[in-house]
Amino acid sequence: MQRSAPAAPKLDAYVSGILAGDRAMLARAITLVESTKPEHSAQAQQLLQELLPATGKALRIGITGVPGVGKSTTIDQLGMNLIAEGHRVAVLAVDPTSRRTGGSILGDKTRMSRLAQERNAFIRPSPTSGTLGGVTRKTRETMALAEAAGFDVVIVETVGVGQSEIAVADMVDFFLVLLLPGGGDDLQGIKKGIIEIADMIAINKADGDNVPRAKSAANEYRAALQILTPHTATWSPPVLTISGHENKGLEELWEKIIEHREKMTSSGEFAQRRQRQAVAWMQDMLNDRVMASLKANAKVAERLPIVEAEVRAGRLLPTLAVDEIVGLLGIGEN
Ligand code: GDP
Repeated sequence: MQRSAPAAPKLDAYVSGILAGDRAMLARAITLVESTKPEHSAQAQQLLQELLPATGKALRIGITGVPGVGKSTTIDQLGMNLIAEGHRVAVLAVDPTSRRTGGSILGDKTRMSRLAQERNAFIRPSPTSGTLGGVTRKTRETMALAEAAGFDVVIVETVGVGQSEIAVADMVDFFLVLLLPGGGDDLQGIKKGIIEIADMIAINKADGDNVPRAKSAANEYRAALQILTPHTATWSPPVLTISGHENKGLEELWEKIIEHREKMTSSGEFAQRRQRQAVAWMQDMLNDRVMASLKANAKVAERLPIVEAEVRAGRLLPTLAVDEIVGLLGIGEN
């Protein structure tokens, strides 16, 4: 008799395992969510729907910074501090470049060696397949699974290059930007857009000889932030100096995160931000779904190259070409 692979868990087993906080089941469920097989994605959606009432209870924190700024050192230490206080901490990563580089540099367990050994921690590297949109959607779903499994702090780590930090800021309650202490020309190195979406800036490596430089960098960023209009009247992003390595400033950093949650909750903005994010998530998924059905449609596959050639030759207006293709899907205006 031929031996088959071990049976995949049934939906019920996933649900009860996750609700019981079983990390192995959580890991398997994330693999299901990340799978590109249609039968898996149907089951994954059912699972997420079942777990929906158990989601949304975690504090979601995004952390970004260039490679080498100290993200993993800081998350490892912050995570250990939080676990000591009784929290359960999940660390997820968003790194759409990991497919090209052949491996994820983020969310790697060896980079958070202490946290990786804790039973109240869960570390998951970036999904490696797909576009930024695909990676983001999977991370949002993974976050929901981790919340259902009882992780009350979810940290989403991303590298400070490209568009991924905007995508992460859009799925978290609090967005932290880590920066290095530097000379006077420091401000040039950081994209203004990032500062605009930051809920807090922390200058890391403020230890040893770096302390004066870190303090002067912090002053510069404070001045820069004053010029920008804060994105909410309730909260002006603070600038801290920390040392992930020496566990300095992390207590204050966490206090600020909690203060932010309290202020934003009482002003109603905490809930509003999540509602906005839920709708944005839905819209992203709708885009994905429509694009997927477009690509899977046989009539579209046949007509698209012809229509493209017509547009290229200047014989057909792009608008009319779009009308025709959308018409083939049967989701046109009428
Ligand atoms: P990541 O690429 O942003 O995750 O950065 P890592 O956490 O891997 O840190 C990059 C390097 O900076 C490592 O050699 C760390 O030991 C060092 N490092 C990280 N945090 C600190 C810190 O607070 N102080 C000092 N002096 N070095 C640090």
